[in-house]
Amino acid sequence: MVSPQIIDMLKDELPFDGDEELVLSGELKVGLVLVDIVNGFCTVGAGNLAPTEPNKQISLMIEESVKLAKVFSERNWPIFAFLDTHYPDKPESPYPPHCIIGSGEENLVPALEWLEKDPNATCKRKDCINGLIGSINEDGSNTFINWVEAKKIQLILVVGICTDICVLDFVSTAVSARNHGLVHPLEEVVVYSQGCATYDLPVHVARTMKGAVAHPQELMHHIGLYIAKGRGARIAWRKTIMNLSSREIYVEIQKAICSLGMSAPARIVMRVSMRTAPSKRKGLGPRSVMNDIQLVKGIQSIARINIKAGQTPTVLATVVSGNLVTYYRELRKTSFT
Ligand SMILES: [Zn+2]
Repeated sequence: MVSPQIIDMLKDELPFDGDEELVLSGELKVGLVLVDIVNGFCTVGAGNLAPTEPNKQISLMIEESVKLAKVFSERNWPIFAFLDTHYPDKPESPYPPHCIIGSGEENLVPALEWLEKDPNATCKRKDCINGLIGSINEDGSNTFINWVEAKKIQLILVVGICTDICVLDFVSTAVSARNHGLVHPLEEVVVYSQGCATYDLPVHVARTMKGAVAHPQELMHHIGLYIAKGRGARIAWRKTIMNLSSREIYVEIQKAICSLGMSAPARIVMRVSMRTAPSKRKGLGPRSVMNDIQLVKGIQSIARINIKAGQTPTVLATVVSGNLVTYYRELRKTSFT
């Protein structure tokens, strides 16, 4: 077995800045992509490539993916689910038979079965490790690319299994396709690390199986994210869903300033800080919120939104024209952090 110290050493040799918080505030058109969260890869004892016993990383991946899928569905945001599905006469080298059609392995895990009937979700069966290749139809069209175009998606948030196989191949290809102008209007490819998992085949077990290649879960998960980042994807380590758009936040601040009896100032500078101890790295949302607010002229104030993990966020608007006045207002927010 690879000792935790060796895994830590290897992670030190392959470090990457993955502690980025993704803030979904509705500023960008976001699509959720679920990769192969099917029984054949996730449900204990479901098949050749399924876990043989409950697995923490896989359970967390399912839990996080279900939470995201529910939020997206409630808001009528688009969801795309890949389902690995094979015909018995068409093996997928180098893997043993898996997710054979009709076996039940090829279906979404019980916690996500509802997605098949959800009007916001598009489900695509694929018999290919790489979802973007697997989306090519007989007439040459591509179901995934069509989905991005039809829904005008600017950012895809990717979760699923396996981090270093189907997720990585799809993400790398999506980044290449975006760079090549094939997926319009896609701008950002984001992998949510806690929403991904890979399988575990420790070295000591692999040695007892003829022809098996070891696949230590934690290390391979890390390597999958590391390579995805190297190819140009962004890795989000934490997510926050905001119920208000920057325009709505702006209106809240305007109301706050008016309630303090301030006259309309000339300029507003709004800074949104996302702090999640111990890191204080910026996510995608704050940048877009800030850009939007700075475009709006007419208010001379500095407003700051402080959002701490697990706490109700507040808007702190500090009016700097005239006397220094502070104002707090609670924001509605759903946080899963
Ligand atoms: Zn497969």
